[in-house]
Amino acid sequence: MASSRITKRLGVFGGTFDPIHKGHVAVAEAALESLNLNEVMFVVTSDQWLRGNPPQATAEDRFRMVELAVENVLEFIASDVDILREGSTYTVDTLRDLRAQLGDSSELFLIVGADSAISMDRWKEASVIAELATIVAVGRPAEQFDSGLFDNSHPASGAEYVEGPMIDVSATRVRDLFSTGQAVGDLVDEKVSGYIEKRNLYHG
Ligand code: ATP
Repeated sequence: MASSRITKRLGVFGGTFDPIHKGHVAVAEAALESLNLNEVMFVVTSDQWLRGNPPQATAEDRFRMVELAVENVLEFIASDVDILREGSTYTVDTLRDLRAQLGDSSELFLIVGADSAISMDRWKEASVIAELATIVAVGRPAEQFDSGLFDNSHPASGAEYVEGPMIDVSATRVRDLFSTGQAVGDLVDEKVSGYIEKRNLYHG
């Protein structure tokens, strides 16, 4: 039946992106190539935050920075699906919304850093997440990941593993560099650095 054929392999890469950095882009590139994806969608979390450490930049600024960082790559898209939904961001809702928008023609691959994959058993409706998408864990420096070590009930027990380029950068480090006036060098796209400076984000 032509209508039920999968025509697109779509990577779904959720994050706070506060701000997006070169590690994020490298993760998406590695997943795109290793898993033969057609596109990777960068899904920016909302501003609603239940736990500690709320994002410093607004959802609008974080989304704009993601747009700037991915605009030159045809296969990368910025998505505001989590910002438009009211309330806190839960991955299971992201995947449900995307499934409703895209229908059955897309196969979803949820891309997460190894640190996030390890804690996935504590995510809302974790078992449903694993039904809605293939989980792809991408290596992160200093994070050991072996899906074989999880018991079967862990959502990442059947995850695909992509070693990735292991770029040792985090958004926390980037924010610290900006707030102390130090050079960020190549850790962030130039257009993103320009935006941060123009909007005076992350100042100390
Ligand atoms: P923060 O330092 O503010 O916690 P972060 O750099 O981890 O931020 P997030 O937006 O929280 O960035 O991350 C989105 C996703 O990208 C998560 O799944 C995270 O594990 C992954 N990720 C972020 N940086 C890297 C990196 N350098 N290598 C591999 N995965 C990464």
